[in-house]
Amino acid sequence: MLRSFKVDKVHANIVPESTLFKTLKYLDKKKIETPFLLIDKEKVKEKSLMIGSHIMNSKVFYAVKANPDIEILRFLDKLKLGFEISSEGELEVLSKLRIKPERIISSNPVKSLKFLKMAASYGVKFFSYDSPEEVDKLVKIIPRCNVYVRLSVPNEGSEWPLSKKFGVELEDALSLLFYAKDKGLNPSGITFHVGSQCTNIYNWNIALDKARALWDLAEKKKIRLKLLNIGGGYPIRYTKNVITVETIEKNVNSLIYDRFPKDIEVHIEPGRAVVGDAGVLVTSLIGKAKRGDEDWLYIDVGVFNGLMESVGGIKYSYIVECNKQSKHKKLWTIAGPSCDSFDVIDRNVTLPEPDVNNLILILSSGAYTVSYASEFNGFSIPKTILI
Ligand SMILES: *Cc1c(COP(=O)(O)O)cnc(C)c1O
Repeated sequence: MLRSFKVDKVHANIVPESTLFKTLKYLDKKKIETPFLLIDKEKVKEKSLMIGSHIMNSKVFYAVKANPDIEILRFLDKLKLGFEISSEGELEVLSKLRIKPERIISSNPVKSLKFLKMAASYGVKFFSYDSPEEVDKLVKIIPRCNVYVRLSVPNEGSEWPLSKKFGVELEDALSLLFYAKDKGLNPSGITFHVGSQCTNIYNWNIALDKARALWDLAEKKKIRLKLLNIGGGYPIRYTKNVITVETIEKNVNSLIYDRFPKDIEVHIEPGRAVVGDAGVLVTSLIGKAKRGDEDWLYIDVGVFNGLMESVGGIKYSYIVECNKQSKHKKLWTIAGPSCDSFDVIDRNVTLPEPDVNNLILILSSGAYTVSYASEFNGFSIPKTILI
């Protein structure tokens, strides 16, 4: 059966036509049991090769939490990316793929003992930190490892801010570099995170200014750093255009070139930008209702089994399957399948009217969807399929 979808010009602006074409082709030939997540390998490849290409002396470490699907990790391994991890679970998957420890770093400033022991035996040697307690743990478990201190930087303009949870100010960061050195670790650099889905280029400018100030303070006190880890945060298109990775990187590169030593090594940790816009969630409409003035659509992926980020303000673009010639569009409230009233994905979404059982595609949903998902209320987590 050939399915017909209402594809608008705006959709082609969100994901490339080739991804849409592949998706629709896949849906035409498969017997479909939703929900599942399609990942366009070509798109992942294109992003992976592009990210870092505008920053000198840079290495890319994929933030595994964005989507830890083993086939995605295998694919990124072939593309020679490194990996950024935080937990024994993430390390276990990488160990199954026999990823060399030199290609793994951990930038979560607070790590469990269990994870650190496993990382020690695997041979991971680069860790971020932002407290003396973390140094004390590292000294016991991985003496002489390389550590980079996490600075707090503004997260304004990022749609998924993180800054209050981690990071320290300049003076504390300087003391921490000394503390690590005194304890026999190798204080090798500085990191920060501008916030995820960061569409504000000035966040990187402010962060780099601050990192530069710390770099100088450390140098004056005879601590020679060599690593600048600029974290993640590169944005993707969900419903509108955003600043491109290329623009961000060219800006970052010129700031680094102007202000830091020429032999500096730069680490980049993108998660969302690697897999986010390569993903299309395929869901089904399981019900419709009119409640007061509001028209509701209920689909088989909601806040709990994939669309958690909608709660934090991420808005998605949808493509609906239409059988009738229903060109007429309406405003909808879109909700997930569970009985929880928290399970509402979006309001005031303009879409043509689908029928129950029709497919609804959710664009740019490759990152922070299935990795956040639970089987709350018995609804299944979408499986990931590479196409
Ligand atoms: C989550 C995270 C990333 C990835 O962030 P994105 O916004 O997905 O690029 C990178 N580094 C650290 C330390 C993180 O916690």
